[in-house]
Amino acid sequence: MTKIYSGGHVALQDITVKIQKGEFVFIVGPSGAGKSTFIKLLIREEMPTKGQIFFNGKNITRMRHSQVPFLRRRIGVVFQDFRLLPQKTVYENVAFAMEVIEAPLREIKKRVPRVLEMVGLSHKMNAKPHELSGGEQQRVSLARALVNNPDVIIADEPTGNLDPDTSWEIMKLLNEINMNGTTLIVATHAKDIVNAMRKRVLQLDSGKLVRDEERGVY
Ligand code: ADP
Ligand code: ADP
Repeated sequence: MTKIYSGGHVALQDITVKIQKGEFVFIVGPSGAGKSTFIKLLIREEMPTKGQIFFNGKNITRMRHSQVPFLRRRIGVVFQDFRLLPQKTVYENVAFAMEVIEAPLREIKKRVPRVLEMVGLSHKMNAKPHELSGGEQQRVSLARALVNNPDVIIADEPTGNLDPDTSWEIMKLLNEINMNGTTLIVATHAKDIVNAMRKRVLQLDSGKLVRDEERGVY
């Protein structure tokens, strides 16, 4: 795919990538390389200027507008700035992701505590985001991404606002989630972590895919 923004800037150029179910993939590259654009195309927040994108065999660039919520339901997204609802508790923030897809209350009550346990936050269920550390807030956003049991989790600089120790905790958690079968796509600047984890590395530079390596480094 190629993405040219309306001002004429080529953000991605002739990118061809295939990611298999269950893979863990790092997207690396300097600021402005096209990492966020790549992610926005995968969740249909942006459309490619040229080329096509398939998800679970479906061409999402041809998908009708009304079908987009079904795509987003299969993909959990985690951002650098957490994007939690400040007035809601940890429990409510996670439950909200199930409410918007109209899950039955019975299921919400069962699923939310389970997911909070998975991310190690059972004891903070009733806290508000401002009462949590950065790492804890990122765990909440991870729980929210996981709660509808997506096929893929996409994380855009998930450790960008965290100190090195906390960054490692979040990456370990992402790795556990991947071990349980969820495909992981993680855009990051964290060289140390990428180099230690030895996952597949896609490196972007000025919108071009310059490297695609199994067990790669950055
Ligand atoms: P990264 O996430 O690697 O920092 P981005 O995908 O955000 O890179 O950006 C790639 C390039 O596209 C940058 O030069 C950026 O300025 C440009 N860009 C990103 N979003 C837009 C937009 N909505 N309109 C115009 N240019 C954009
Ligand atoms: P991030 O990569 O940190 O998630 P964005 O993708 O929003 O942030 O923006 C990345 C770069 O793209 C920034 O340099 C920003 O100034 C530029 N950018 C974002 N939106 C636009 C836009 N509408 N027009 C021009 N540049 C943009």
